[in-house]
Amino acid sequence: MSHCNKKMLSFFLTTKCNLCCRYCYNVEERNRIQEQTISFEIAKAAVDWYFENNVSRHIRFYGPGEPTQEFEMMKEITAYAKRHPNGGNRVTVEIQTNGVFTKEVREWALENINIMWMSFDGMKDIQDYYRPLNPKFSAVFNGQTSAEVLESNVKWLIEHKKSRELMVGARVTINKMNVNKQIDTINYFFELGIRYVWTDPLFCSVGNKPVCDETSKLDECYFGIENYVKNYIDAYKYSKEKGVFWGSFFAVNFDGESDYHCRCCTPLSAPHITVDGYISACDMVLLGANPYYMKPFVVGKWNSMNKSFDLYSDKIITLNNRRSTVMQHCEHCSAKMNCGGYCLGETVNETGSLYGNNKAKCDAIIRLYKEIGKCEPYDYLHP
Ligand code: SF4
Ligand code: SF4
Ligand code: SF4
Repeated sequence: MSHCNKKMLSFFLTTKCNLCCRYCYNVEERNRIQEQTISFEIAKAAVDWYFENNVSRHIRFYGPGEPTQEFEMMKEITAYAKRHPNGGNRVTVEIQTNGVFTKEVREWALENINIMWMSFDGMKDIQDYYRPLNPKFSAVFNGQTSAEVLESNVKWLIEHKKSRELMVGARVTINKMNVNKQIDTINYFFELGIRYVWTDPLFCSVGNKPVCDETSKLDECYFGIENYVKNYIDAYKYSKEKGVFWGSFFAVNFDGESDYHCRCCTPLSAPHITVDGYISACDMVLLGANPYYMKPFVVGKWNSMNKSFDLYSDKIITLNNRRSTVMQHCEHCSAKMNCGGYCLGETVNETGSLYGNNKAKCDAIIRLYKEIGKCEPYDYLHP
């Protein structure tokens, strides 16, 4: 099952965040505007529209900030979807969270969430270095560090989940500090009870110019891609013995064939509703009003007069047409049907073009494909 089969309705819930991550992927975008949260009117309309036109009943909460910072809104949207007359009884809920939330949130999550991906960079020193708590929130967490709160929440959820359909996994950003510690990271997560981990090599943040026109950003997102691949292969083998799933963002399609990379190519079956009322095709395009060079991914907008979503069909068709089978640089690639032309968001962020090519990433994917190759369907698709 390749990654483009992940069908769901995502809510980019709020720009508020309680951490100050060193490499926050969207801090420039969030700093340009005042704090915003999705409106319940638009969220409800999105649920009605999505359920009317899709079989999937999977909903998901994600950035641009930390979704649990708008806990009441998340609860309201979840309750609305779950009691929806059109298949609400089949609703499943996923969240990508920084994991730094209160006891009240985790008690609700235990009963309401099915898939929880924690953005978690591994051992405490690494987590606290890259993802420190915003000091404004220190009192809320009794002076604990982000790693201490996260550890406590992970352990509590895993200990209490019992027979509930809840998976608590980690989504690790690979950086300079953990790239050579992948086996140690597996052992650390194993001790906490985590059995599913996706590793995502650090990518450059989204700004108002693509990275090719702002090359100073390359230092900020350097982690050593060859080192990552080499260590990943060792860690992957080790993880199999340990009974832990250790996935790579470069291998999200190794479990199935498609010339699409991901849901971004079919945005109407996996739309993302932004805080400012747009439909985005991609996790990297979190605000619709000023997407700069990321505008190919803004595929619709809430129309407050008609109370419906306007869709930009030309952009949707352009994304539909972005396939590895039509891209020149993919023509002779052995991984063509198990890569799908790589992440569209990162490609545009780096090269300014949907059809751009990042050779270092292609080399990494091809090497992983040769060494690891195709695999059985993943239990939990990459977030
Ligand atoms: S938790 Fe996410 S949104 Fe918040 S600072 Fe970190 S990367 Fe940015
Ligand atoms: S960030 Fe990449 S993998 Fe994720 S939705 Fe966007 S294009 Fe797809
Ligand atoms: S690895 Fe590169 S060349 Fe091969 S299919 Fe993916 S994007 Fe295309």
